Amino acid sequence: CGIFAYINCNVSRERRHILEVLFNGLRRLEYRGYDSAGISIDADGDVASAELHGLAAPGFSPLVFREEGKIEKLVTSVYKEVNETDLNLNQAFTNHAGIAHTRWATHGPPSPRNGHPQSSGNGNEFLVVHNGIITNYMVLKETLLRHGFGFESDTDTEVIPKLAKFVHDSLTEETKSGNGGGKDIQFSQVVMEVMRQIEGAYALIFKSPHYPNELVACKCGSPLLLGVKEIGESENRGVFAESELRLAEDGGKPKEFYFASDASAVVEHTKRVMVIEDNEVVHIRNGTVQIYKFEAGKARTASGGLPRPA
Ligand code: GLU
Repeated sequence: CGIFAYINCNVSRERRHILEVLFNGLRRLEYRGYDSAGISIDADGDVASAELHGLAAPGFSPLVFREEGKIEKLVTSVYKEVNETDLNLNQAFTNHAGIAHTRWATHGPPSPRNGHPQSSGNGNEFLVVHNGIITNYMVLKETLLRHGFGFESDTDTEVIPKLAKFVHDSLTEETKSGNGGGKDIQFSQVVMEVMRQIEGAYALIFKSPHYPNELVACKCGSPLLLGVKEIGESENRGVFAESELRLAEDGGKPKEFYFASDASAVVEHTKRVMVIEDNEVVHIRNGTVQIYKFEAGKARTASGGLPRPA
């Protein structure tokens, strides 16, 4: 089981390149053992889907591909689908966020349905790749079922994207009704709310069309690291200090970021890696990295194990 993500910021990359970076990441993580694999990338120009979800910008509707078995089986089926649809391999994205997963099933047998990314449901408003086990997923699932969520997989993981949607919708409602002071809900805020609810061991990467070109990752008990490559820089070596990352908050500079369960999937791109600590939340946005320390004590008002619906 391994997770991997790639996000290019202010640097033009073709869909072919994005796919190959994700597949190579998975190939490097292959030795960890797995029974299925999956990825999510963005479609483009999917106006209908963007409108459906009230999104400002079309083109960020995520596509999800999952296969049981070998990574090469996933690769073949993705390229087959690309060929059969009007997805153009030469389409260039100046900003794009992709996530990838190899699964070692703990809850639910290996199958495309149980593969990751797991989704919040129709429209893929929140997508999650997960390495680990969520021990309180049954309680969360029961609560989410009561709130009208349907479940499509047998995994423990599926509660996470559904919880993210629930939290996102609740916070958005609160903001609209004036309690949030009209502030925008940040992606990292949604993830921290999710972290307050889940128990167990996890490394997670979140992707959402509500936050195009952004990724949020967090971990507790499972390994995760971040690689950063600044385009045009000769020295892409050394371990990142957090202060250095904060200095690197210059969104304009072209950069590429990689999340991975271990360094073997990142070193071919950059030697500048940072080990993510337990309870850290890493938010990539506009070419900047922000790291938050999650504080479990700062819980919001909860009802039935979930934030109170608006
Ligand atoms: N517990 C999750 C599942 O069974 C993730 C397993 C993994 O780490 O690959 O889907």
